Amino acid sequence: MTTGLTETRSLLKSIYRLLSGRYTVSDIVNLLHVRGSFLAELLRVSSSLRDEYFGNIITYSRKAFVPLTNICANACSYCNFRRTPQDADAVLMRIEDAVELVRKWEAKYNIKEVLVCTGERPDVYPEVRDKLKMWGFRDYIEYVYSFLERLIKRTSQVLPHVNIGYLSFEDAKLLRPYVASFGLMLECATVRLLNPGMPHASSPTKHPRLRVEFLYTCERLSVPVTTGILVGIGETVDEIARSIHVLSTLCRRLTCIQEIIVQNYMPGERSSRTCATCREVLLQEMLRLLAVTRIVIRDLTSIQAPPNLAPGTYSLYILAGINDWGGISPVTPDYVNPGYRWPSIRELRKATEDMGYILRERLPIYPKYVREHRRWVSDILRDRVLSLVDETNLVAPDRASTD
Ligand code: SF4
Repeated sequence: MTTGLTETRSLLKSIYRLLSGRYTVSDIVNLLHVRGSFLAELLRVSSSLRDEYFGNIITYSRKAFVPLTNICANACSYCNFRRTPQDADAVLMRIEDAVELVRKWEAKYNIKEVLVCTGERPDVYPEVRDKLKMWGFRDYIEYVYSFLERLIKRTSQVLPHVNIGYLSFEDAKLLRPYVASFGLMLECATVRLLNPGMPHASSPTKHPRLRVEFLYTCERLSVPVTTGILVGIGETVDEIARSIHVLSTLCRRLTCIQEIIVQNYMPGERSSRTCATCREVLLQEMLRLLAVTRIVIRDLTSIQAPPNLAPGTYSLYILAGINDWGGISPVTPDYVNPGYRWPSIRELRKATEDMGYILRERLPIYPKYVREHRRWVSDILRDRVLSLVDETNLVAPDRASTD
């Protein structure tokens, strides 16, 4: 009995300290272990905070996934996406082909977000450099720039969310006029994951220092950015807590972080063979993680978790305090997590409404950044962005799709 009471007092103190903003990483660790009725209490707190800050609206972005190339210089052991030029299914898309696909999807599926996703610096490989040279590009960044430029010239409403790994300030600055938002996961704030035998041992640009540096680049360039953590790849609970704390500190220092993704590792055909440190993350653990993240992050930014990685149970994420489902594609699969189908918009709407909330479509730029478009939206994309939204800066109902 005494032990139970002592534990309850300790957990209540941790919640109080998190709510007051005067917490230590041990408070986060403490709450990442709660179970039973205390988990229910934690969810009640996080859910109330979400309601207070974001009301009864849960958002999503209607997207198409464009994997320009799956060739990557890194080799994260949990990755199901990466290929090398020697692989038979390695892809480096011709720009015209990629633009044509998006044009079709824009017309047929009313997508607003183009998720431009690639491996990191594929031009470390001579085969890729030769091909790019043959097509007239000096390097990979010039190739991506050319894709974005033609995409915007030849389409009428799509906006690029660019997730192509770590970029130097100069490279990001070059792309910036055609980028609505960047994406770069912190994944984990510990350098231990780069040690031999760990998932980032052959992935130098997964060093947390570089990931944080990129977030500062986005601030300097005034581009909204999405970041987040990936759990279940070999980190400890203490390291997860530290990652949440690092993101919270960054959200207090930077204004460019528009969303934090809390993503769970899910086994894939390749990663099951290559990742010795990976484990599946249980639903209860995800709920704790989302709730604690919401309590730490409060209203500093949006929190989303991918629904396709919790098939059948994702509506419970609403209880844990998320306010966004991320990008959902009515047309392309999740190339990063093959085998995990996105719910349809109809399913997502039903699950959201069953929990008492309203589903609204957003752009790949969150409303706050649309409102402050003079700072956050480039001159090239501004008219396009403003033509798509209503007074809430979410997609106007007459421009949205219902399924
Ligand atoms: S997770 Fe990203 S950086 Fe790592 S190997 Fe896969 S594509 Fe490359």
